[in-house]
Amino acid sequence: MPNVFECGSVVPGCRFVAHSESRDEVLVTAIEHLHRVHEIEYLSDSIKARLRAVIREVAWEPRS
Ligand SMILES: [Zn+2]
Repeated sequence: MPNVFECGSVVPGCRFVAHSESRDEVLVTAIEHLHRVHEIEYLSDSIKARLRAVIREVAWEPRS
């Protein structure tokens, strides 16, 4: 099942969404996004824990 990170769960108003089969890959993409777009240089353990908490597994939705 794909893993999805919605940045809006951490940064209200942001519409960035990352998804991948690999949970680690989603986490890496999310961290890169926070660095680049939100200019968060240092990710504390509590922020990382928050990121992990908002990554969730979803079923693929059929696109019709
Ligand atoms: Zn964002």
